[in-house]
Amino acid sequence: MAYLSPPGWKLTDVSDQERMLTAALLPSRRLELARMFTILEWVEPAVQTILDGKLADLTGDDLDRIGFRVFVLLVKGKECMGTELQRTASVAPKIDDHNWSCKKPDVCTETFKRLWWEKVGRRLLHPVMPMKTFAIRWEVRTWKHADLNVACRDHMVQKMELGEIKFSENKIVAGVVQAISDYYLTL
Ligand SMILES: [Zn+2]
Repeated sequence: MAYLSPPGWKLTDVSDQERMLTAALLPSRRLELARMFTILEWVEPAVQTILDGKLADLTGDDLDRIGFRVFVLLVKGKECMGTELQRTASVAPKIDDHNWSCKKPDVCTETFKRLWWEKVGRRLLHPVMPMKTFAIRWEVRTWKHADLNVACRDHMVQKMELGEIKFSENKIVAGVVQAISDYYLTL
């Protein structure tokens, strides 16, 4: 198929530019540039994107750009996140303060635990489309169950919103970002 192109349009130039633009969006490229020019603001979004995905999806070119020491930090972060995710999935936060209207706190707690595993835990560990921890509170808010007091449920949602119940995945990302930034500053 023939393409119409303006006179003098050099296709090679266009594709080179496109390649550069696309590469600039790659998290591995961002890390490379962050290192070369000490642009530390680029570290966080790149690390977040890489840790959201699978490290096995990184190509040889990605690894060249990232470098061995930073790759090791990413591997450690990913491993911590996996452990933390399993803990979050399997251990429901405890309802420590049942509402006055809650007539059977023990049953309420048990129901919350069961729903947690069925509706949150299993989805957090889903191999293809895992639920993100920030979405947990939106999920919990929708729970309707005869044995779960609505006020107790909302109390737990509120604690998640206020950060009183934390899922430490963000802390792990922040730790990796800090370690990489510290390393770049030594170069
Ligand atoms: Zn309750």
